[in-house]
Amino acid sequence: MNKQLTDDKFNFLPIATNTFWSTQDVKWMQKALTLARQGVECGEVPVGAILVHDNQIIGQGFNEPIGRHDATAHAEIVALRDACTRLKNYRLPVKTTLYVTLEPCTMCIGALIHARVDRLIYAASEPRAGMVGSQMDLAVQPFYNHSIQVHKGLCSEHSSQMLKTFFRERRKSMKQRKDSASSK
Ligand SMILES: [Zn+2]
Repeated sequence: MNKQLTDDKFNFLPIATNTFWSTQDVKWMQKALTLARQGVECGEVPVGAILVHDNQIIGQGFNEPIGRHDATAHAEIVALRDACTRLKNYRLPVKTTLYVTLEPCTMCIGALIHARVDRLIYAASEPRAGMVGSQMDLAVQPFYNHSIQVHKGLCSEHSSQMLKTFFRERRKSMKQRKDSASSK
């Protein structure tokens, strides 16, 4: 068989047949998507994150830099702070997984390494500034003393659609505001 076809098939199979992800993985990512939707209601770019250890949520959050007046308040950071505060520990327990609806940025992957997250599952890729495969892969660099196992693509369509709708609506309302201001 053509090698290219075989490789493509291999790469495609896990997500297409949904056998790669466990029922738990799907459940937690759906919860992260629900958090992302909460962000939309607050006018924030919809990204949600959940930290899971031993099948329990130990931290969660959604992107809210506007509401918190904090440029660092990305969903991953909010979830990390939530977990570390609850656990009273700056490092997370071994075998903690982060589920996030968008590929992490430079700041967030750095924080996840510092907190010792073991596994990262993200939904949609972020082609412009994603640092876990899109622009660079900071999750597995030899100069760090910790690396993170990464899987991508779980519920990616759902997350991408939510982001696209959010930006489309935001552009529309900005245009309406501009038009009504210029007609006064
Ligand atoms: Zn980030």
